[in-house]
Amino acid sequence: MSNYVKDCIALCEKKNPGEVEFHQTVEEVLTSLEPVFDKHPEYEEAAILERLTEPERGITFRVTWVDDNGKIQVNKGYRYQFSSAIGPYKGGLRFAPSVYPGIIKFLGFEQCFKNSLTGLPIGGGKGGADFDPNGKSDAEIMRFCQAFMDELYRHIGPSTDVPAGDLGVGAREIGYLFGEYKKITNRFEGVLTGKGLTWGGLNGRTEATGYGIVFFANAMLEANGTSVKGMTVSISGFGNVAWGTAMKLNELGAKLVTISGPDGYIYDENGISGEKVDFMLQLRNSGKNICAPYADKFPGSKFVAGKKPWEVKADLYIPCATQNEVLIEDAKTIVANGCKFYCEGSNMSSSNEAIAYLQDNGVCVGPSKAANAGGVACSCIEMGQNAGKTVFKPEDVYKQLYDIMIGIHDACAAASKEYFGKYDLVKGANIAGFLKIAEAMMAQGIC
Ligand code: GLU
Repeated sequence: MSNYVKDCIALCEKKNPGEVEFHQTVEEVLTSLEPVFDKHPEYEEAAILERLTEPERGITFRVTWVDDNGKIQVNKGYRYQFSSAIGPYKGGLRFAPSVYPGIIKFLGFEQCFKNSLTGLPIGGGKGGADFDPNGKSDAEIMRFCQAFMDELYRHIGPSTDVPAGDLGVGAREIGYLFGEYKKITNRFEGVLTGKGLTWGGLNGRTEATGYGIVFFANAMLEANGTSVKGMTVSISGFGNVAWGTAMKLNELGAKLVTISGPDGYIYDENGISGEKVDFMLQLRNSGKNICAPYADKFPGSKFVAGKKPWEVKADLYIPCATQNEVLIEDAKTIVANGCKFYCEGSNMSSSNEAIAYLQDNGVCVGPSKAANAGGVACSCIEMGQNAGKTVFKPEDVYKQLYDIMIGIHDACAAASKEYFGKYDLVKGANIAGFLKIAEAMMAQGIC
């Protein structure tokens, strides 16, 4: 490893002690950028990596709200604004008890490269809170969102920073956040994406992430002489990303056989399609975060408690739940199952060790920062729709999404060919995403 890259990884670890998820992504991205610094020594002189690994701004704030029993609750809120080199900060908000700076920084750092890959003018940021929406009443969710926005509003704006959803933040939460922003500022503007269709939201945004993942995975398969049509596919999760992925897989003629939750996974040998896919929304809206009820509703399927779906034989695996859901032992299972294709849906689905094992054993890997960029790409289209005070048609959005995902695949493939002489989408995504940001930073001077 070059000294510059090694030193920057060490510096980041020293400056952000204990934030292991952030260290993980920084190590993964920076190591693949090595050949870029051989070709562009001016980037090292301009301290591009030291600057990119330090958020431009980080906000931590107290969120005080009252629960249904009248008890005062206090949570920690965050917004890390990583890079505005190519556009306003853009990225979701995550509400989950596991949220701490290491999670938000990993997501924010990844977001910079993902957003760059879309080819659209959006910088990178991420935020959230250590708030658990599961088991909360609707009124509690509303009061929490309002309290969260009471601080966040002063740091965001349509040309400054545009948050959206992520785990624990869906259409309902975006509604409450938007209502509070509008009330405080007296401005109806595109400050959040993922809005409802009657108040500025984009046709197709809800399913965009999942659709985009399948478009990307299919482009990867086609580059290798095959396609998802007729493939048996195993995915994890049952939330928004898994749902969109399931719909598009079925539409393109694949057979989906698993979904999962924190409680275990569902195996349905008859295929998860039609009303079974719709049922995923009911599971998500139950507020229980479990997938087991699927097996009671659909005879012929089975629930496997406490296990991950990777033990089911499939032609293609798409993790769609959360970070680090595929570890080295899972990668070994996937390889032992004889699978040749793996595409990340959730952000940083796999440990660095797992990715290396999969690739070393001939599995073609699609990285999340490229594969799941369709969600944020459509968020940027939503920003454009709001700025232009117009409404885009679903068919136009789907067409743009498709073109963007194919463009991302081709950019990753081309960058890996140029710098490594092979088809490696993991390295290619990092390089293609980085180059655009680095060029913008060089042009904008030392800031
Ligand atoms: N949270 C999503 C992501 O990880 C969407 C972000 C957005 O739309 O701004 O990309």
